[in-house]
Amino acid sequence: ELHNTVMDLRGNIRVFCRVRPPLDTEMGRMCCSWSYHDEATVELQSLDAQSRNKGSGQQIFSFDQVFHPQCTQTDIFEMVAPLIQSALDGYNICIFAYGQTGSGKTYTMDGVPDNSGVIPRTVDLLFDSIKNYRNLGWEYVIKATFLEIYNEVLYDLLSNEQKDMEIRMAKNAGKNDIYVSNITEETVTDPNHLRQLMQAAKMNRATASTVGNERSSRSHAVTKLELIGTHAGKQEMSVGSINLVDLAGSESPKTSIRMTETKNINRSLSELTNVILALLQKQDHIPYRNSKLTHLLMPALGGNSKTLMFINVSPFQDCFQESVKSLRFAASVN
Ligand code: ADP
Ligand code: MG
Repeated sequence: ELHNTVMDLRGNIRVFCRVRPPLDTEMGRMCCSWSYHDEATVELQSLDAQSRNKGSGQQIFSFDQVFHPQCTQTDIFEMVAPLIQSALDGYNICIFAYGQTGSGKTYTMDGVPDNSGVIPRTVDLLFDSIKNYRNLGWEYVIKATFLEIYNEVLYDLLSNEQKDMEIRMAKNAGKNDIYVSNITEETVTDPNHLRQLMQAAKMNRATASTVGNERSSRSHAVTKLELIGTHAGKQEMSVGSINLVDLAGSESPKTSIRMTETKNINRSLSELTNVILALLQKQDHIPYRNSKLTHLLMPALGGNSKTLMFINVSPFQDCFQESVKSLRFAASVN
C-alpha cells in the first residue's frame, strides 16, 4: 500500500507547527520560553511580566505535530512524503507555509542550498517514485506552473511579459476544473528541467520584489505540479496535483501602509484561513471565491484532497504577539 498515511485516519487537513531556532547572528535577541510537552503540544511563555500577570503570558497550543527548533528538514519531509505519494495516485495536495515574515516559511518550503526544504525534496521523491511506477507500467508527465499573487493580481513567474491572467472554470466539470488563462505551463519529464524552472521562477520573484518594495513578503508564491499518469495496458489514467504555497507574511502591517491597500494585500491570506476553518468545521458553504488564492486552489482544498499547513513561528520575545496569533490558528481549529 503506497499511500497509507496518517491523514487517512483523521480527515484531510493537518496543521503542523514549526518553531525555528535563533540564528548565530541573532544571539543578542531574547527568546520566549518554549516547552515541548509531547509531539503535538507546545507551551509558550512570555518573558514579559506584565502579560504574565494578565494571564496571557502563558499559553498551550495543540497541533497534529510540533517540530521544535532542533528538528531537521529530513524530520519535516518524513511527514510530508506520504502526501506526495498520494498525489501520484490521483489526489490533489496543498501544502502551505503560514507565519510572520522571518519565521521560516521559505526555509521550510525551499530550504537553503545545503539543507533543502519541502519543494526540492518533493522533486527528488516524485522522480524516484515515477521510476518505480514505470516498472508497473505507468508513465507520468508533470505539468508545472509557477505564479505569484500580490494585491489580488496574478503574476506568471516563468514570464516577464505583463499579461492578463484570470482564474477560469473549465467547461467539462471534473476535478481539475480550474485553470489560469495565459499562464506558462511547462511539461516536464526530467528532474533537472524542473529544477531549472524552479530556479527561474525564484529569480523572477526576487527581481519583481526589488522593484515593488514589500512585494516578496506580502505575496503568495504558488508552485503547482500536475501529475498525469497513464497505464497503456490497463487503459487507465490518474491525475493528481501538488500545490506548494509560500504564503505572504501574516504580521499586521505597518501603519504607514494605507488601510484599503493592506486589506486587499491580506485578503487571500485571511480568506484562506476562513476556507480552512470552514472545511474543518464541515460547513455547508465554503467561501472559495472570496479571494484569488482560494479560488485558484478550490479543486485542491476540500473534497478529494489533502491539505497540510505549516504554522511557522519565530522564537523571539519581540515576536510573542505575532506568534500567539499564528498559534491560535490551530486552536480555533480544534
Ligand atoms: P520567511 O520566509 O518566513 O520570511 P525565512 O525562511 O526567510 O522566513 O527564515 C528567516 C531566516 O531564518 C533565514 O535566514 C532562514 O535561513 C533562517 N531559518 C528559518 N528556519 C530555520 C531553521 N529551521 N533552521 C535554521 N535556519 C532557519
Ligand atoms: Mg520568505
